[in-house]
Amino acid sequence: MQILKLYFLCVIAILILVIVIVCVARILRSPFRYPYFEHYFDVSGKRTPQMEDLIDEYLNSGNFNKIQKHNQYISRWEKECQEQIQKSIMKKYRRKQFEACLDDSEAFRFYFTRKQTRYRQRDYVKTSYKVSQITRQFGCNYTYLEERNRQLWEINYECTLRNYHEKNQRKLMTKELRKKIMIRDNYTCQNCGKYMPDEVGLHVDHIIPVSKGGKTVPSNLQVLCSKCNGNKSNRT
Ligand SMILES: [Zn+2]
Repeated sequence: MQILKLYFLCVIAILILVIVIVCVARILRSPFRYPYFEHYFDVSGKRTPQMEDLIDEYLNSGNFNKIQKHNQYISRWEKECQEQIQKSIMKKYRRKQFEACLDDSEAFRFYFTRKQTRYRQRDYVKTSYKVSQITRQFGCNYTYLEERNRQLWEINYECTLRNYHEKNQRKLMTKELRKKIMIRDNYTCQNCGKYMPDEVGLHVDHIIPVSKGGKTVPSNLQVLCSKCNGNKSNRT
């Protein structure tokens, strides 16, 4: 009987000890989690995607306000943490934890994801399913994005910075861009007004020639018929 009582007391003591350890661990654990900005680019099917190009395209689509808002959110969060530290009884300890979790230099994170097909076999039947996998990660601070956005604003958000500074502007004349300009100008010569819906004999012309620093961007492109295009190149 005595031994049973002792055994029972031991179990209770161990239980209380475990509860105390769990509670202390919880109190000591950092309550701060840095609020990262995260954005995912699905690059499935793109052969050599460039992170900077995709960030430029993201900014060109008018998303800088999301970045700005998030930056304000981080400032608010930091202020709230400071207040929390002031109220805490372990000020020094909490301050250290807060400073350890700060990561302003990589606050904005961008990821490349690729959809991959996987297979599962069950009852002799093979079925496919897709999973998204992160293949690249890039982190930067707010100033980097602000500066990039400013430079894009200067070129009217027309293309990526890499394309703008590309030495070989003719290389940027892709099939897709040609089609886009044809549709915009309604298959009509912008000089004489000739409408040629079959595209034959129509050219996409650089308004300011590439040789004079003209860029391959929609605002510097127009549709011309062969005749007008020929006349233009004779003049220049
Ligand atoms: Zn014409």
